[in-house]
Amino acid sequence: MPELLDFCVTRTDGRARLGRLSTPHGAVQTPAFMPVGTSGAVKAVTHRDLLGVGAEIILANTYHLFLRPGDQLIASLGGLHRFVGWSGPILTDSGGYQVFSLGGRRTVSEDGVCFRSHIDGTEHLLSPERATEVQARLGADIAMAFDECTPYPVEKDEARRSMELTGRWARRSRDRFLELKGQGEGGAMTNGQQAQFGIVQGGVYPDLRAESVAEMLEIGFDGYAIGGLSVGEPTGLMHEVAGETTDRLPADRPRYLMGVGMPDDLVEMVGCGIDMFDCVLPTRNARNGQLFTRTGPINIKGARYASDERPLDSECTCYTCQHFSRAYLRHLYLAREITASTLNTLHNLHFYLDTMRRIGEAIMLGTFESFRQGFRQTYSRRPQSV
Ligand SMILES: [Zn+2]
Repeated sequence: MPELLDFCVTRTDGRARLGRLSTPHGAVQTPAFMPVGTSGAVKAVTHRDLLGVGAEIILANTYHLFLRPGDQLIASLGGLHRFVGWSGPILTDSGGYQVFSLGGRRTVSEDGVCFRSHIDGTEHLLSPERATEVQARLGADIAMAFDECTPYPVEKDEARRSMELTGRWARRSRDRFLELKGQGEGGAMTNGQQAQFGIVQGGVYPDLRAESVAEMLEIGFDGYAIGGLSVGEPTGLMHEVAGETTDRLPADRPRYLMGVGMPDDLVEMVGCGIDMFDCVLPTRNARNGQLFTRTGPINIKGARYASDERPLDSECTCYTCQHFSRAYLRHLYLAREITASTLNTLHNLHFYLDTMRRIGEAIMLGTFESFRQGFRQTYSRRPQSV
């Protein structure tokens, strides 16, 4: 067995925890939010901007990089860190979620998922072994086991079938990972200290989630992720299932809630003991003109902002809020200036990372519960009309 990824919980407040995750490319303070850099870039911003808003770790999508420019090419250029020019920690997903999102363009079998590329229609197979090999070549600090993302709603029988398949795939992913690790760096593995997380599935059924956790623990991973949530189920149910599942995960390993979520989800889920998050919401919504503020999101295209000289959020210290008015941001958005995407993304990422910082501060001070109550009172998911 290789040495486990170094992770320590430095402080707890109720179920919320502060921690430190050490990777070959530096440490990450948890709870952490990982901006999504699909093809090796967080859309509309530079790595300098990401450092500026305090991002310590980014996520890249295996599916996209596997298809273009290809993991072999990236490995031959020294691996993902060197290729994209980001020297901090990187996590790659397994590609499972993306191939399942392809709908009719994929077929699932025991072996893996056969799919057609969204770029040129060519046919590919992504299996637990293949997804592990691709990620090993990319060389991120954290790789994910290949899983099947169970949709919602789904009958219990189907959720069980899917959860059991994910279990078998997790074992195959881990076996292949340990084999590659045994061959050492420079062979098939670009980053000899890569860690691998397992993914818990089971839909919204607590007993299936419990079985899935037991299986992942038996296989033994460096960290554990909760997948298959935020796929259309009601928010309350998502919180309930994620909370119950988190309680079953070992306290000494990082816990990662995949694809979540809205700002209030982050607060609630840290409150259940989650350490890591990723989500496309701050970046995707920025490009669609939806901007997050302390009281809730605003849609910048609204006519009410046409001559609004105020910054997006008067308390925000980001570059966008320090320099530009809502009126100007609305104008850039309507004029389809590409700068609109940049300024909006800077603000939304700053908002997300600042929310994580405030959460961390509250845990440090032992005031997380009052922070959570305050957040619930001031933040609304409904688009703001002020
Ligand atoms: Zn701002």
